[in-house]
Amino acid sequence: MTFVGKTPGPAGDSPEARRYNRVRRWLSFADFAVGVAFLIVLLATGWSGQLRDFAYRMGWQIYSVSVFLYLFFLLALAKALGFGLDYYAFALERRYKLSTQRIRAWLWDEAKGFLVALLLCTIVVELLYFTIREFPLHWWLLAWILFMMLFIALAQLAPIVLFPIFYKFDPLEDEDLRRRLTMLSERAGTRVRGVYRWKLSEKSTKANAALTGLGNTRRIILADTLLDNYSGDEIEAVLAHELGHHVHRHILKSIFVQAGVTFIGFWAANLALHYAVDHHMFEELSDFANLPLLVLVSSVISVLLMPLLNAYARFNERQADQYAFDSIESVEPFISSMTRLAGQNLAEKTPAKWVEWLFHSHPAVSRRIAAAEAFARTHHGGLGVH
Ligand SMILES: [Zn+2]
Repeated sequence: MTFVGKTPGPAGDSPEARRYNRVRRWLSFADFAVGVAFLIVLLATGWSGQLRDFAYRMGWQIYSVSVFLYLFFLLALAKALGFGLDYYAFALERRYKLSTQRIRAWLWDEAKGFLVALLLCTIVVELLYFTIREFPLHWWLLAWILFMMLFIALAQLAPIVLFPIFYKFDPLEDEDLRRRLTMLSERAGTRVRGVYRWKLSEKSTKANAALTGLGNTRRIILADTLLDNYSGDEIEAVLAHELGHHVHRHILKSIFVQAGVTFIGFWAANLALHYAVDHHMFEELSDFANLPLLVLVSSVISVLLMPLLNAYARFNERQADQYAFDSIESVEPFISSMTRLAGQNLAEKTPAKWVEWLFHSHPAVSRRIAAAEAFARTHHGGLGVH
């Protein structure tokens, strides 16, 4: 890891970083294409109906058991189809020395990920077809409310139930950092319930930090790869940014945005289902062989809305950055931490504009640094003058 300096020029990205990010983008395209093709084939060939019949036979003709079996087959098939790409993504991280995981540990994570996905999808899909069966007229409104309740519960439980399945977390014990955080929090007139050391180094050489949880599980998590290698001032700048998310209530606002997006999603899903039933693709709404259609509709909607949601996320990131500039003494550690993080994570500091606009939830590092410099010029009379 090299310290690049505080003013990377437009040519600040190594060919290595360019290549790595280009391959990653192709991998997500491929992943999406394989998924969509799989769903379309299932629907067009009638295999979805055959899979449903098979699930009924295996599930003693019991509706909810058959729904579960159908979903299990669907997820298992999708996993098998996408496994090559998943492995390629892992090999890519290994090739660029960003992953420290061995194949066995990675396979174990894959297995755990599959089981977690199966559990969450089972809850969602069983609720979905329960509402369709019991309330065929307004199922999509009820399903939307239930889905949002589940989403909020999950946002709250994730830091204590979901993340520990994959990573270890310990309360931060560093006295200097705790003192810095207390001072930052007091200045903000708020309190974050905890700061946790996130053992990322077991799997990755990348560094990261995040604000997670809701209510009494809200916490800042800091990767050990950051804590062990960055200066106190740099970590404080990162903490100040995360505190900015907290002060601006970004998690709560994102939940409202999510509610809007899923409302559109369920509304469109209802239209698609009715269209399919009217055109005799399925006999009734509650025929769960139509699940691929629902997934297809929601995938297309999320891809279409992605640029908009990313723009919103970048707006929040800029707000958190501004908050950080305001609460730290000098923007220099912010700039150096950004530069170091980009280098360490092999991120593009100056991605192509369309790439940033379509895919990035964070503003380009070069822009974030430029914003910090602009702030310093207007507030501190230039860099380094406090
Ligand atoms: Zn952020």
